Amino acid sequence: MDYTIEKMISEEELQVRIREVAKEIEKDYQGKDLICVGLLKGSIMFMADLLKSVELDLAMDFMKVSSYHGGTDSTGVVKILKDVDADLTGKDVLIIEDIIDTGLTLESVKKFLMTKQPKSLKVCSLLDKPSRRKVEMVGEYIGFEIPDEFVIGYGLDYDELYRNLPYIGKVVKK
Ligand code: 5GP
Repeated sequence: MDYTIEKMISEEELQVRIREVAKEIEKDYQGKDLICVGLLKGSIMFMADLLKSVELDLAMDFMKVSSYHGGTDSTGVVKILKDVDADLTGKDVLIIEDIIDTGLTLESVKKFLMTKQPKSLKVCSLLDKPSRRKVEMVGEYIGFEIPDEFVIGYGLDYDELYRNLPYIGKVVKK
């Protein structure tokens, strides 16, 4: 291996902050028709832990998209590989994402989901790298702002590995 992994956010720090975010969501969505849409695969660990602490009646659904990064075409950045199953019309939809980087993925996903006429559409992301933005994208619920580093663990992969780590680490080239 030509890299090592350095711990950035510990399991304990993750769990404490995730519970705080869950309580914010719980407060804001009282009496609403909440459906949480996780973006596969990166959001799975976060979504599972987060929603266990949200004491509300809510539905869960999933989407899978592929990002086209580094292309010159700024439109149609993502391809929908799996659409949600549920009818989102009139629902309060909360997208659950692992990380906001350039913002291009969420820009496309939000545009796509808006066509389904939800009552509201917001974003909850575990991590945010604001310094990397190419388009304006603000997540309503953010776990941690991080610097411009490539991170893995807790759902995030490097060539499909490390998603099962209980902490967030950064990849450091040797
Ligand atoms: P964006 O469209 O905002 O640039 O990218 C969002 C997606 O890129 C994330 O859902 C994630 O799949 C991937 N991504 C962005 N930054 C990182 C990172 O530091 N580590 C990993 N593993 N994936 C990342």
